[in-house]
Amino acid sequence: MGISNNIRAQIQESSWIRRMFEEAAALSAVHGAENVFDLSLGNPLLEPPPEFRDELLRIANDETPGTHRYMPNGGFPDTRAAVALGLAVETGLSFEGTDLIMTCGAGAALNVTFRAILDPGDEVVLIAPFFGEYTFYVTNQGGAPVVATSHNDFQPNMESIKAAITDRTRAVLINSPNNPSGVIYSEATLVSLANVIQEAEAQFGTEIFLISDEPYRKLMYTNDPYPFVFGHHERTIVVTSHSKDLGLAGERIGYIAVNPGYEERGEFISAVTTANRTLGFVNAPAIMQRIVAKLQDVTVDVSEYRRKRDFIYPALTKMGYEAMEPQGAFFMFPRSPLPDDQEFIRLLHSKLVLTVPGVGFGTPGYFRLSFCVEDRVLEGSLPGFEAALAEARG
Ligand code: PLP
Repeated sequence: MGISNNIRAQIQESSWIRRMFEEAAALSAVHGAENVFDLSLGNPLLEPPPEFRDELLRIANDETPGTHRYMPNGGFPDTRAAVALGLAVETGLSFEGTDLIMTCGAGAALNVTFRAILDPGDEVVLIAPFFGEYTFYVTNQGGAPVVATSHNDFQPNMESIKAAITDRTRAVLINSPNNPSGVIYSEATLVSLANVIQEAEAQFGTEIFLISDEPYRKLMYTNDPYPFVFGHHERTIVVTSHSKDLGLAGERIGYIAVNPGYEERGEFISAVTTANRTLGFVNAPAIMQRIVAKLQDVTVDVSEYRRKRDFIYPALTKMGYEAMEPQGAFFMFPRSPLPDDQEFIRLLHSKLVLTVPGVGFGTPGYFRLSFCVEDRVLEGSLPGFEAALAEARG
């Protein structure tokens, strides 16, 4: 009674998150927070760059009337133009401001996109391992998630994707650099994926969007250019945010951009603009839009995250954990030394190290740790990791 069955199911499905928080709080109460090593959260550690504060102060002192009023639902035209220019520089494609809208982060961007393209029962293919909130974002908007798998290196398995696509598939959603694996989908992967999608479109006589969720695009530890999805498939959409690359997770600012080569992009932008309004987001925060318009070529100091990656990855693999080296984002996704990842997570808890079971990312048998934490926490977690591995191996 009271709440909907729908949200009750969502609460139930994510109950392991609540249990984890409760256990973490209980551990901290008993052992002291400084003795508990919490690697469970992906909350960006690096503060926004100094340019952010400069812009914020400038806007705070700007008394131009209307600065804080409603605006077009897609965002300020000059912000959209600035983001388009940034994307044009990054991709070499001719983006215009009308090819994107500003949103309340990537989470809102995904909800808005699904609202714009899904009718009840339409399917969205997710590729495990995936950010756990995706299933909620799809079902929120009446869709049905269908899960495909990856290979051991966490590059998507094309056969599995082929098998997952039906005549109800409206989109395939990818995320690279990936949360939780840290893997970047290669150019070859994107080419194969586009081929699979286009073959399915021809087979079913349908249109399928390739949606790329890229909040970690600027957090990469390779020197290779980022493999963009645009150019491989006409119906391509990028959703992203500045939560991680500018450290603004609490400020809720991101965008949805559509391939400038997509013929029906005008209709798509009109659909997401309407969905942004009718879902109640109305528009992305005005102050943030003004700031990020000036910060499209600014990023937090990625070398700090790389330094942490270069500490934790060799330390854990030397102990005997099996994992792919993260190429981007700030997560590592080792294989669970016990077949049941939740059991291993509890074993780590008993050593005062907090991580997240792979089941939360559609991939049991693994666990995720975030290295987006203070050095003290990373260093302090090592004895716990070592003891848990020894105990798991008996
Ligand atoms: N997508 C991925 C893969 C994420 O990891 C996150 C947050 O952790 C989001 C989307 C949502 O980010 P935000 O809504 O803060 O932009």
